[in-house]
Amino acid sequence: MIPLSQPQWQTETWQQQLSGAHRSLDSLLAALQLDPSRAPYPLDADSTFPLRVPRAFVARMEPGNWFDPLLLQVLPQAREHETHPGYSLDPLAESGSNPVPGVIHKYKGRVLLITSPACAVHCRYCFRRHFPYDQNQPARADWHRALDYIAARKDISEVILSGGDPLALSDRRLEELVLAINEIAHVKRLRVHTRLPVVLPDRLSPDCISTLSGLRLQTVLVIHCNHPNEIGDDLAQRLDALRQAGVTLLNQTVLLRGINNHSDILCKLSEKLFNVGVLPYYLHVLDRVQGAAHFELQDSTARALHVQMMETLPGYLVPRLVREDPTVGYKVPL
Ligand SMILES: *Cc1c(COP(=O)(O)O)cnc(C)c1O
Ligand code: SF4
Repeated sequence: MIPLSQPQWQTETWQQQLSGAHRSLDSLLAALQLDPSRAPYPLDADSTFPLRVPRAFVARMEPGNWFDPLLLQVLPQAREHETHPGYSLDPLAESGSNPVPGVIHKYKGRVLLITSPACAVHCRYCFRRHFPYDQNQPARADWHRALDYIAARKDISEVILSGGDPLALSDRRLEELVLAINEIAHVKRLRVHTRLPVVLPDRLSPDCISTLSGLRLQTVLVIHCNHPNEIGDDLAQRLDALRQAGVTLLNQTVLLRGINNHSDILCKLSEKLFNVGVLPYYLHVLDRVQGAAHFELQDSTARALHVQMMETLPGYLVPRLVREDPTVGYKVPL
């Protein structure tokens, strides 16, 4: 029996939850009992990068709090229209390392596949918010081109599924792609970078878990979690199942002003991640994408936070503080 008080989304499949995500300011704010006319900062009701937030993520926000750290990651603000020198539409210059559609090959031995243009959530700081996904449509034909490219390059030992969000693919399409990669003998590892489990834990369905764990390839799942409040029991259970199935779990965080720019929050995040079997991997400074300048911290602040983490945590719980530099073939330590 489902108690009457249980919100409807909790009984829906992940696909239903995905399509039932909030897509307007009004519905999101109403769910949080926030009155848009009393917003303490100017909002943007019709951003070209539209609002998108699954209800499971909203359930982890504090009702009535305009400054909730999860809300601030997804709420479109008028400040996104500001232009700042040094902030561009393609901060990583990815369009220059795009040998075939859907493939970004910038780093030695590793290739990144844009597997799905979709995301379950639209993060306002996203460095791909202006990415030409329409020119990188991962149609089946393009997967063949991408797979042919990987098969022809014997130096590629790791395939990274990225996006958008690779877990926005259906279980069937994900399985099809992963099995095809599994067939390429010189590929040793499969890595999946995803924020989906954090905003919609049910996405780690039994089918998805068996797809990721039943491979010849060693499999790594990198979740993108920015704040300890994002981790609840649902996510913990799904991650535990993955880990027990032999998948290595890592996390990547973006350092965001107003959201996680305190060492106590970052330390708590590391501790909480480790409690659910996830090791902190990277702490990224913001990529300078137009529309996200209000999230940026000064490098000196970022370094100071990182030092405070090193002073507080065992070394294995301190993520590497890095920046993405379009001219360098690795994530550059600050
Ligand atoms: C970040 C990134 C990788 C992976 O880098 P790691 O340091 O191995 O995590 C690979 N390719 C591209 C294009 C990337 O941006
Ligand atoms: S989930 Fe990742 S790719 Fe998608 S909007 Fe958020 S930061 Fe961008």
